[in-house]
Amino acid sequence: MSFDIKSILEHSDIQEQKRTLKNINQYFYTNYKGIGKIKVFEQEFEYFSDFHKFWEKNHKKILNPTIHEEKCESVADVLHDLFVKYGKNIFLELYDTLDLTKEEICKVRLFTANQDFRGSRNFSEFAEIYRSDPSVFDIKFILEEPQTFLAKLQLQGLSQSDKRLRYAQITAEFLYSNGLEPFDLFSYANEDYLEIRKLLTELKGSGFGNKKTDMFLRDMRQLNVWPQGKNYDKIDVASDVNTIRVALRTGILKTDIPLISSFLDIFCYQYVLLDKMNAKAWRRVWEIWKDKYPTETIESPCQMDYLIYKIIGKELCKEKLSFFKCDSEGHTFFWHSSRNSTCQVCYEEKRERKRASLIFKDLPCKYQEGEIYVSRNRRIQEKLPELRECPFTKICNSKDPNFVKLQPPKSISILGRTGWTTAMTRKEEGGGGLMS
Ligand SMILES: [Zn+2]
Ligand SMILES: [Zn+2]
Repeated sequence: MSFDIKSILEHSDIQEQKRTLKNINQYFYTNYKGIGKIKVFEQEFEYFSDFHKFWEKNHKKILNPTIHEEKCESVADVLHDLFVKYGKNIFLELYDTLDLTKEEICKVRLFTANQDFRGSRNFSEFAEIYRSDPSVFDIKFILEEPQTFLAKLQLQGLSQSDKRLRYAQITAEFLYSNGLEPFDLFSYANEDYLEIRKLLTELKGSGFGNKKTDMFLRDMRQLNVWPQGKNYDKIDVASDVNTIRVALRTGILKTDIPLISSFLDIFCYQYVLLDKMNAKAWRRVWEIWKDKYPTETIESPCQMDYLIYKIIGKELCKEKLSFFKCDSEGHTFFWHSSRNSTCQVCYEEKRERKRASLIFKDLPCKYQEGEIYVSRNRRIQEKLPELRECPFTKICNSKDPNFVKLQPPKSISILGRTGWTTAMTRKEEGGGGLMS
């Protein structure tokens, strides 16, 4: 049976329309006494709706995310080519550590990894704060005065400050009660990266989710703070929307239907599933690469992170190429920056400044002219000099008119002001939902 909700709603009489809409709303967005309970973060909640139950049970079968073997091999081949051309360094995020010792690097990174939610602050900024006053990172001090600690790091007054206090305090508490410095975690966990990972991610309220933990571990190995030890190769790429986006567009990860909107995935089942499968897909790429070219592979999938996340995901696989139209003479041109308001054709030809308007922004890899952007992006050129287009362009086939710019899932918080737990309502009561 094919069901066309558009024609049912739009081409029926008003009585039918009323019934249909009431039905849709009840099914997706309301609950009732006896609907059942679900445990989230150690707390019990009623199911949000019948759809919530359905989606919990069936999201895996319906989305059916699969890893595409041939695509993984193509991506592995590209990584191989890049490795041969540019060397291992493109896979390393090399911080300026300001000559701090291994112990100091570890301490600074551990206490900031769970605070820098968007990864926008430089390691060297924090290292500089340490250098000017190491006592700021004293574990007992952080435990007793987390507020001052955050202030010294200029992390105060930012979003979610209660959370931040807890993160600092719980991490410090754990170290203090075990008589450990962050550097000692390695021997404490039997030189096993998986054990350290378990330790941190199970430290409730410390802010060490999978992604932050994996990035921290990657850094400790990469900066040579800790030796190779055990199970470093079990650490995955730090999965996030950027790496998921690249996985979907290259096709190493595929779903049976396009991802659903976060309006429907308010319980985050889709996001969690994709997140998990994404890490597996990148691991498969790494395995193929390692098997095919055993002499050159990086130590662990987590080390692909910098190239895939920061360079490809954030600089290349985004709407970074701008298309402008000249207001007075109708010239059109691509430009590397959207912050331009001048017709560069008029300027080039007659050195005259005429206004131009931004018409659209799109992926650089879709156009021959994408080169303008790629060759002028400093972050790309620093690591990959002379690169002219995204190295995955042929795999994504993005110049093909049938190319679909697949989008990563969006995650919605489960608890809090904008979470679904505050959006609940009863069937007969109506209303419910979110407001800002
Ligand atoms: Zn012009
Ligand atoms: Zn692309």
